[in-house]
Amino acid sequence: MRRQASTKIVATLGPASSTKDRIRALVLAGVNVFRFNFSHGSQDEHADRLAAVRELEDELGRPIGALMDLQGPKLRVGHFGSGKAMLVTGQRFRFDLDDVPGDQQRVQLPHREIFEAVEPGTELLLDDGKVRARVEKAGDDYVEAMIEVGGLISDHKGVNVPNAMLRVSPLTGKDRNDLRFGLDAGFDWVALSFVQRPEDVAEARRLVAGRAAIMAKIEKPSAIDHLEAILDLSEGLMIARGDLGVELPPEEVPGLQKRIIRAARAAGKPVVVATQMLESMIKAPSPTRAEASDVATACYDGADALMLSAESAVGDYAGEAVAIMARVIRQVERDPLYRPYVTAYAAEAQQTADDAITQAASSVARTIGAAAIVTYSTAGTTTLRAARERPGHPIIGLITRLGTARRLTVVWGVRPFVCRDALDLDDMIQKARDAAVQLDLARPGQALVVTAGLPFGTPGATNMLRIAYVSERDG
Ligand code: PGA
Ligand code: MN
Repeated sequence: MRRQASTKIVATLGPASSTKDRIRALVLAGVNVFRFNFSHGSQDEHADRLAAVRELEDELGRPIGALMDLQGPKLRVGHFGSGKAMLVTGQRFRFDLDDVPGDQQRVQLPHREIFEAVEPGTELLLDDGKVRARVEKAGDDYVEAMIEVGGLISDHKGVNVPNAMLRVSPLTGKDRNDLRFGLDAGFDWVALSFVQRPEDVAEARRLVAGRAAIMAKIEKPSAIDHLEAILDLSEGLMIARGDLGVELPPEEVPGLQKRIIRAARAAGKPVVVATQMLESMIKAPSPTRAEASDVATACYDGADALMLSAESAVGDYAGEAVAIMARVIRQVERDPLYRPYVTAYAAEAQQTADDAITQAASSVARTIGAAAIVTYSTAGTTTLRAARERPGHPIIGLITRLGTARRLTVVWGVRPFVCRDALDLDDMIQKARDAAVQLDLARPGQALVVTAGLPFGTPGATNMLRIAYVSERDG
């Protein structure tokens, strides 16, 4: 039988993965969710790729998740007279609002919110931290800074201000436009860049209005400070290690990764580990040992999903990167140490009917050696609680809404399966048996542990657990 990996794979689409054939190859290599990076490409390109993903869904007969990742506010310097400037360690340098071309002494920084937020001592990082400056004097429309680490800086390079709370909305005009487009196009998840505070997520929630699930990207120190409140307002988290590792010293990222995974797991919300997982595979057919180890570590920590960025979007070895990631995941999940590691930090059940039933389901499945746990659900709430248990059995998410099924593709251990509303209990149990056989997860004679809320159709707590046996007639 085809027991699939529990840890999911998210792959970013781009020029290296834009045709339907290439996207199909990535799905067959193990991708569960595609990320559409709105920092690159036009809406038309994204629409074409989404259409290809939806066609593949029909062709392959299983839900595939689609995540739109909004660019968010990008802070950038203006341009230089000669296209670039060589900044020397120890020199003074000025940033201001003036759009005349920059030189060795100054450049435009067209973001008034930065000047409002910084004070003497605040660090400004240029070009992903390659050049570092420290503010000495801050005015309303300029700062004078000391270059602490010099280097070459060219037109429109990015600026990070890690230790200031900037008065910028996480949603720029471009983001709002992209969001309108994306919600109409039917994306399942929206990832928010540069979340600084819970209000940022609340603002996005108002705009999204339930039409997609929200994934907050954790990439700012201030988001770490407000992690619990941000998690409360989000349906999931992404550990965006690229910017996080610029905004914070890189040695802090591994520990934070573990902390964020634990927080999300405790809340029963999916968490995606992102960026540079197999970075060297952009140009090489095999990963470094350190990269294989990084992928494995995120699995052992019980992350829901691991993400590929440039590796699958613009890399020379997109298919190989997915295949390697899938192989590392499979190997980890086969390791006898995996269960003890992944359950070591299992969060305690809450005193709710949902948790009582889902916890019992894992325990019953273990005791009777069931083939799978089946959760019958509309909104996927109990399915998420079942995944939170990180049970040793596959979870079949029997879901009556296609949109919910697609959202659940990113969740650890869940095999979403779309079905019609059950007529009654017997019909629901039959649907569970059929799904298990169609997913190739159970053979005749094997047991399923099925949970649901009765009566059907009334949203509320799950209150039922049944053991059902698969028979020859099922499927
Ligand atoms: P980005 O986000 O690629 O959109 O910047 C991911 C990260 O910062 O790690
Ligand atoms: Mn980022």
